[in-house]
Amino acid sequence: MDPLTHALTGAALINVFPVPELRRRELLFAMFVSAAPDLDLAPAFLANLPRNLIPGALLFDPKWMHVHRGMTHSLFFAVVFGLASGWIFWRLGVRKGSPARWSVFAVLALLSHVFFDLLNGGVALWSPFSGVWVSLADLPVVDPFTLGPMLLCFLTVTQPSMLWRRRGPEGSLEKTWRCFSEKTSERYSARKIAACCLLFTGAAVALRLVLA
Ligand SMILES: [Zn+2]
Repeated sequence: MDPLTHALTGAALINVFPVPELRRRELLFAMFVSAAPDLDLAPAFLANLPRNLIPGALLFDPKWMHVHRGMTHSLFFAVVFGLASGWIFWRLGVRKGSPARWSVFAVLALLSHVFFDLLNGGVALWSPFSGVWVSLADLPVVDPFTLGPMLLCFLTVTQPSMLWRRRGPEGSLEKTWRCFSEKTSERYSARKIAACCLLFTGAAVALRLVLA
């Protein structure tokens, strides 16, 4: 899947995971760690740097695309990077809950990334022990049945104030988002909404795997 879907999935997961407190940094950590395996696109992005700075001209250099979905998309990386990043996040200042809880969350978030990418093109799942490419399905990289529920979940359970501190008057888009998320959260808890969106996505994926 695309990095946006992965980051939004992390945001949905942190809403159902039992963490002591969910604020901006916890949310951003969840989004970062879920999308982190796609940092292997960095060489392909940097190789085309002058051009990639032009809006709308993004092009990943094909010479570096062989690196993508390799080691960073393996089970080995999910476990090692997940345990390490969870502990570092806790150590850097969260200090709420146990470091193990954050490590478990990070591993799960990374496994969600690996699972979604197995559904569209596959990954080097067993790297660095084997270079065998594993693929479960051929869903589109930008999948509306995955991105849609995750985006809806994000807009519903996240207040704009969780992401940035407002300086100056609120824009109309921000106002609409805040009203929407406040009204929904008055009726339903964030955990229930996130769980429903994740279940819907899971069911949509399972149905297509069965029908394929
Ligand atoms: Zn990926």
